[in-house]
Amino acid sequence: MEQLPAPFIRVINALKRLPGVGEKTATRYAMQIFDEGRTYIDQMIQALSDLAEKVTLCPVCNNLAEGGLCTICSDPQRDRTVICVVKDIRDLAAMEKSGTYNGLYHVTGGLISPLRGTMPGDLSLDAIKNRCTADPNIKEVIVTLDATVEGDTTAMYIKETLKGLDVRVSRPAMGIPTGTDIGYLDGLTLSRALRDRKNI
Ligand SMILES: [Zn+2]
Repeated sequence: MEQLPAPFIRVINALKRLPGVGEKTATRYAMQIFDEGRTYIDQMIQALSDLAEKVTLCPVCNNLAEGGLCTICSDPQRDRTVICVVKDIRDLAAMEKSGTYNGLYHVTGGLISPLRGTMPGDLSLDAIKNRCTADPNIKEVIVTLDATVEGDTTAMYIKETLKGLDVRVSRPAMGIPTGTDIGYLDGLTLSRALRDRKNI
């Protein structure tokens, strides 16, 4: 790699930050990008620049949006009586892919983990209560968080904050193996877990 010009090294270093991309793959990608030529590189610059400038977080649910509400929050066909709480956008995508859920979402931005220094105030948790209080149509909050200690802790915290509200708080059935990351579940397992959800 030492023989490569500095601009190459900078691209390789940027690519290496992506999951599953090591030195070798990053170098291969950088070479390929260079070979594709000016038009391709300009398109990529524009696409990345749009990503940084135009993509925002939905002010209601924290899903990705293009300014304003996300496509789910602004979709009149969605069931507005239920909110599915997920830890990140990857888990939201897994839920959408399972094709069995048609309600709204709330993305927390992570899980409570005192070990990693993530406290409730670092996450979008109290906003769930605010949404339920502001909208009497919401009848259920499905806490679809990982079956881990952090997921359990976060679920319990959410349940506490919703105490006293006329809202069912449920969690997908723990047919989900302990330690499971929601984002890795297949659609069938996820839809079954959702169907058999239990009150918490
Ligand atoms: Zn939204």
